[in-house]
Amino acid sequence: MSDKGPTYLCLAHMGGNEERFIHDAIESNWVTSLGPYVDKFERSIEKWLIPQEISEGVGSPVYVAALSTGTSALHLALRLLGVGAGDDVICQSWTFAASVNPVLYRNATPVLVDSEDSTWNISPRLLEEAIVDRIALTGKTPKAIVAVDLYGMPARWDEILEIAGKYEIPVVEDSAEAMGSLYKGRKCGTFGNFGVYSFNGNKMITTGAGGALICHSEEDKERTLFLATQARERALHYEHVELGYNYRMSNISAAIGCGQMEVLDEHIAHHIELHDIYAEELGSCDGVTVTGNPGADFRSNFWLTTVLFDAEQATIKCVSDDLRSAGVETRPLWKPMHLQPLYKGCPAYTDGTSENLWDKGLCLPSGPWVTKEKASMIARRIKSMLSKTSLRCGAETIE
Ligand SMILES: *Cc1c(COP(=O)(O)O)cnc(C)c1O
Repeated sequence: MSDKGPTYLCLAHMGGNEERFIHDAIESNWVTSLGPYVDKFERSIEKWLIPQEISEGVGSPVYVAALSTGTSALHLALRLLGVGAGDDVICQSWTFAASVNPVLYRNATPVLVDSEDSTWNISPRLLEEAIVDRIALTGKTPKAIVAVDLYGMPARWDEILEIAGKYEIPVVEDSAEAMGSLYKGRKCGTFGNFGVYSFNGNKMITTGAGGALICHSEEDKERTLFLATQARERALHYEHVELGYNYRMSNISAAIGCGQMEVLDEHIAHHIELHDIYAEELGSCDGVTVTGNPGADFRSNFWLTTVLFDAEQATIKCVSDDLRSAGVETRPLWKPMHLQPLYKGCPAYTDGTSENLWDKGLCLPSGPWVTKEKASMIARRIKSMLSKTSLRCGAETIE
């Protein structure tokens, strides 16, 4: 791929060894939903999450289960937490649908909670309000909390975990977009009772399609793998007591994952570098704000750099149309779940934060294929569009 083609938000990028590992998996005939690369991939994520010296000492241990998608990891997390029909599950409303859909897979009720405006993640104040109110209304404590590190920005984990602990509600951390982000120096994905990564084609690293569930005990990991491989009992014949799923990662996908682990830290550094270029170039520009870390405790991987416009919808459209005419993909910020037709009837605790923000911003190209020069060009184009006092969105600016 050359620098001349279209610029996408975040495109898969191979490190170099993926092809060799796939070839090796085929040669050894491990073309199956288990195999040496699956184990190797899991071990390399565990090592990357908690370096050896810590895992043998004080740090809490992590056990990683490689699965078919991030969505399946979320589904299994809820299953392991015993979420069932009629239970409440509190979910961050401002997220991608895959954070919340598994609640419906379990026939449970999503209770949607708005974000706070510094991290764009679940508001601790509204979280507690929702818990107290649901207990009063239903007489039952919500069964789980799904909090997200959206766009790679760590949520306010200290406050969230304190509230969760106070009401003894387990937490699932959806870190699908936050592999490599840090909160108080600790990697996102390790804060909840379970953590979730996605290796979909557009994420920080990819296995084509894939995900991982981060567990904190060997039993949880074993149970995850049992449920992910059709819940087959230990017997020579096929014996089933429980409902299982076909959610395990394949050895070929894991071979790609092993190659990707070799470039993970480079990918993270590149995303952060692009964010810094956008922030630098647009820092002095009126009418647009590049989202940054809200304090020293937060270090986003800036999976996608997001910008907010202090402008009319029409202006934002002009900017995105202009970028599209230059072959640059942008995308509006995610539409909150409580505004989605699918989730309209769900209880929601909102204060307008996500509603006010979601259509005022854009996601900018941030992946490994985006060069630093390209990011500067994109920033300069945004600046020049905004500086035109009367924006002309004629046919000449649209492809
Ligand atoms: C991508 C994503 C998921 C789902 O991951 P898949 O691997 O695509 O199933 C879940 N939550 C968030 C926030 C995501 O961005």
